[in-house]
Amino acid sequence: MKGLFSFTFNMLLTMNKLYIITIILIVFASSCSDKEEQDDKYLIILSLDGFRWDYPDEANTPTLDSLAKTGVKALSLKPCFPTKTFPNHYSIATGLYPDHHGLVLNRFHAVDLKKNYSISKRETVTDGDFYSGKPIWNIAEEQGITTATLFWVGASADINGEHSSHWGYYDEKLPWQARIDSISKWLSLPLETRPRLIMWYFHEPDATGHEFGPNSREIIAIVEQLDEFLNKFFTQMRKLPIYDKLNFIVTSDHGMSQISPDKIILLDEVVDTADLEYADGGNPVYNLKVKDGKLDKLVDSINNSNKHITAWRHGMVPGEFHYGTNVRTLDLTVVSDSGWSIYWSWKQGKGLGTHGYRNTNKDMHAIFYAAGPAFKNGFSQPTFNNIDIYPLAGKILNLKLPEVDGKIDNVSEMLR
Ligand code: AMP
Ligand code: ZN
Ligand code: ZN
Repeated sequence: MKGLFSFTFNMLLTMNKLYIITIILIVFASSCSDKEEQDDKYLIILSLDGFRWDYPDEANTPTLDSLAKTGVKALSLKPCFPTKTFPNHYSIATGLYPDHHGLVLNRFHAVDLKKNYSISKRETVTDGDFYSGKPIWNIAEEQGITTATLFWVGASADINGEHSSHWGYYDEKLPWQARIDSISKWLSLPLETRPRLIMWYFHEPDATGHEFGPNSREIIAIVEQLDEFLNKFFTQMRKLPIYDKLNFIVTSDHGMSQISPDKIILLDEVVDTADLEYADGGNPVYNLKVKDGKLDKLVDSINNSNKHITAWRHGMVPGEFHYGTNVRTLDLTVVSDSGWSIYWSWKQGKGLGTHGYRNTNKDMHAIFYAAGPAFKNGFSQPTFNNIDIYPLAGKILNLKLPEVDGKIDNVSEMLR
């Protein structure tokens, strides 16, 4: 009897052990597959500044064409207003309109902080106080995904005390090849430090577009050179053992408009500058701080001066522009029609191209290409907003995202 009891007891014990071991194995295996599934997902986003949506129609761009064939090409990417570099790169990074993330222009006085922000002053671009919203690299880091940035707007700032794991101070002179080498190096790191989200940037064809205009031979030449650079980049990426897991986005912040000396409005000939406290911005978009009691007079004088310039009061910018409610946009937002320049008589611009106009102007739209295991093959995406890139990136990397202005529904069709 005792023998039978101990046999049964031992058997139960063994079964129990087996059961426990099986459960442990199942839990371990599923956590491994979750981890592997997560580790499989990489996203590398490149912004080529000022790459207008239709440049590839004019130039020879075999690398971009092959991205479109194997992946996704959008008809165009609609930037946020104002169509300037800093507001838009930070909109891509946060999924928020400039009114909501606080970089309302490239240079502005932050009334709320009593501080000036300027893209050319390192102490301001690195000051996290200016930046609202949560950039996607910080979201990813918080959720255990290592990230790297190479000169993306906002990435050199401590935003809520956080940073991407790999980043550097802006250096426009860093050659293209050195940028590719950094990315190859990062993607060859051991798993624990290897980034799975990389956001990098190059300042062309914006610089050439400003100098020679979007209709120039020089633009065709730089666009073709960038396409060759891209070819070098992808050739190097193909050598990586994880190449098959890499998703790529090649995009831009805005387009470019041709400007000319016969389409110039001098703001100081339109307004009485004695009525102004100060003005932020540059051709063709400004925010004005107006002296007490002078607002009506100023709005009337601008709106009755030339039909190609418009002034909107704070809070009265048409809803489609999602702008003019942030305290940093001051009392008045002034913009001209595409192709028209707004200068001060003492500060006129050089060059044949600019941007900053309403985002409803098609020449302000940018490129968007994507390819990799997450994307469909040969998919034509209709025009969409650049703030939608944030939920798109979040979906690819399985991130939990806060509520933002961008919407996944606008872009989910391009995913497999
Ligand atoms: P925009 O005046 O809007 O054409 O601005 C373009 C300029 O922004 C380029 O000349 C870049 O050198 C500059 N820029 C872009 N990203 C950064 C950055 N992260 N830090 C500093 N300057 C930048
Ligand atoms: Zn730009
Ligand atoms: Zn520019």
